[in-house]
Amino acid sequence: MPETIKNKITAGLNESQIRAVTFGDGPLLVVAGAGSGKTRVITHRVAYMVQRGVPPGRILGITFTNKAASEMARRVDEMVGAGVTIKTFHAFCAMLLRRRIHHLGYDPSFTIYDRSDSLRVVRRLCKALNLDPQYYKPGDLLDTISSYKDRLESPQEAAGKAASDWDEQAARIYAAYEEKLAENNALDFDDLLLKTVQLFREYPDVLARSQDYCRHLMVDEYQDTNLAQHVIARALQGKHRNITAVGDPDQMIYTWRGARMANIMEFEKEFPGASVISLERNYRSTANILRAASHAINFNELRYEKNLYTKAGEGRPVVVAGHYGAPEEASWVAEKIRELTDKNGAGPSVGVLYRTKYQSGEFERVFAKEDIPYQVVDTTGFFDRKAIKDIAAYLHLIVNPRDEIALRRIINVPTRGIGAVTLDRIGHAANQADIPLLDAVMDTKITGKLSSRAAGALAGFAALYSELSEYSRNAENVRDVVEAVIERTGYLASISGDEKEETEELLAYFKGFAEQHQNQNPDAGLTGFMEQSVLASDVDGWRPDTDSVSLLTLHSAKGLEFDVVFLTGVENYILPHLRAVEERDPGGDGGEGLEEERRLFHVGMTRARKLLFLTYASERMIKGRFEPTGPSRFLTELPHEGVFWEGLVDSGSRRFGGRVKKRKMRPDSGKTGGKRARVKKTPKSSHIAPGDIEPGGKIEHPQYGEGTVISVNNIGKKKQVKVDFDSYEEPLTILQ
Ligand code: ATP
Ligand code: MG
Repeated sequence: MPETIKNKITAGLNESQIRAVTFGDGPLLVVAGAGSGKTRVITHRVAYMVQRGVPPGRILGITFTNKAASEMARRVDEMVGAGVTIKTFHAFCAMLLRRRIHHLGYDPSFTIYDRSDSLRVVRRLCKALNLDPQYYKPGDLLDTISSYKDRLESPQEAAGKAASDWDEQAARIYAAYEEKLAENNALDFDDLLLKTVQLFREYPDVLARSQDYCRHLMVDEYQDTNLAQHVIARALQGKHRNITAVGDPDQMIYTWRGARMANIMEFEKEFPGASVISLERNYRSTANILRAASHAINFNELRYEKNLYTKAGEGRPVVVAGHYGAPEEASWVAEKIRELTDKNGAGPSVGVLYRTKYQSGEFERVFAKEDIPYQVVDTTGFFDRKAIKDIAAYLHLIVNPRDEIALRRIINVPTRGIGAVTLDRIGHAANQADIPLLDAVMDTKITGKLSSRAAGALAGFAALYSELSEYSRNAENVRDVVEAVIERTGYLASISGDEKEETEELLAYFKGFAEQHQNQNPDAGLTGFMEQSVLASDVDGWRPDTDSVSLLTLHSAKGLEFDVVFLTGVENYILPHLRAVEERDPGGDGGEGLEEERRLFHVGMTRARKLLFLTYASERMIKGRFEPTGPSRFLTELPHEGVFWEGLVDSGSRRFGGRVKKRKMRPDSGKTGGKRARVKKTPKSSHIAPGDIEPGGKIEHPQYGEGTVISVNNIGKKKQVKVDFDSYEEPLTILQ
């Protein structure tokens, strides 16, 4: 290869990065910490392969979000002027299935069900099987089905392993659910992966063609792949064995969706002879940020040890700031953002991160009041809106006439006099005749047996549907179809009052989205558009190039970076998230669940380039009640060096259980009672050392020192201990 081209691709990279980028054929694993250039390496390696002469159409890049995929494709194009396929696993599988799923008896026009669609199916099945929804909660059943699928277990296998009545019913619902989806010509998210695995296993020629197509496979964020994804990657590279996987086990944050540490840990076993390269220089963060993040993650037991260094300089200390409540926390963040912004409104890129979506509300309120431009990174919310789901259901039904869930959703939306009884009768007739529900609706022999009013209403719907399908077949672009559905259904006219304006805006946005999709993917058609809307993830709508503050969850912050990060709500209950910990380890100390929460904390911290603020509040509204939250145990796991504490360390609360309590305030402390915690030594654990944890008992805490227990409250499976520490003026509350 000419040196100049190689230089263009390797210029500025360090030695290990160059080794990874220019690695020849064969399996390669790059395990490295946050900000070490893993994504950059994958991107440059894709470009390098093109330069080496691999036809661009024979390279497949896999990223975690569509956004990351298009960003990577853009960078590759910039470097070597070639279009390479870069997709998420789900989008890649959908593409493959559209071409090959007929082998499995599905039509290529299949609908992809999102969680709410799947829930509707499960609810209907529970009803049909007379299961008590209090005991057999549809959401729990769906989660269980999904975890069977994550492990590639069939309904028969699930039934075989059932250890309780509940499990047995879950396996039964799983079987019925699969049948129903097949009838509806629909796949859920998990199926995209599962059906691909099935195709590869049962149709060697399909696999052979895919293997031929995919000479080189590069996967980013490998630590969050699940079993099915791993099996797909392994199958795709079963012949050429050119797989490059990059990842960081310390950033595995999706075990609740089936991510498996083993995929990285056992990579060398799976691909014998694999080379492993590690990258040790962090290019993103200052030394203070990197030290704090590395120190914190060190408390995890399940780790892949690595040493990261940075040449970015010490930078400013990491600031830990305590606040009275969420409003104070949000105001403080706003004030800091103001300080960082110059007169012309220019400033560093800022990310405000939080554990749970509902925490964004307070920031939105304060930022709006303070005129701080912001964007909430949460597009899935958009596709979950009722108006969008309704119009989308029409579109789904046009693409896939067997989609019963879509049909049931809109057959009487807007209202056209088709009631539940009519629908039941039609459903029954469809069952008897063993035909799709829509066919029954369109069949006058069937509808003719109903009352003339019902038959008339159904005929009206049938005519509308025919008209829309016909229009869609001849339409030049997707936007026109979306518009036709909105217009001809009279959807807007059916909405009145306050909702009208908002619905109008939503639908206008939807049309705009369709137009944009059309321009970017001229050949994708309506099927491609619907697929993209279903597979959209939160960050896909994020615009990193604007001057606004980004508000996002820790999960969606993965892979991103900001000059300044505010990691907010670092509190008991919230981070570690109590439910997430308890679900994984009921009654225990947290175990795996706690470790995953700590990785989330670590992911959040490592998003910061220059400044990192960790904030917490003493109390927060949780499920409609003010609960004393206070500083998270993770804060006690920070190093002494390079961390500056300000504000409260007290988590005593004004209101708990609705009762107003008095708090000691220092005269000069204003509303926060500001007191700085001095962390004298690095604690190895945030646990209170054994002693009598009962009122009056003496205890020792690794951060706060010795103290006397004032009260002990049982909250769920945790103990909330209020302690009068000798070296603190006000009592502190700690969750054990
Ligand atoms: P994460 O684990 O968070 O996904 P990562 O390992 O994928 O991080 P990148 O996002 O690729 O890291 O890189 C982190 C930052 O460092 C980016 O801003 C990237 O442009 C920069 N960077 C990486 N390598 C180099 C390099 N050799 N020279 C200059 N900057 C670099
Ligand atoms: Mg990355």
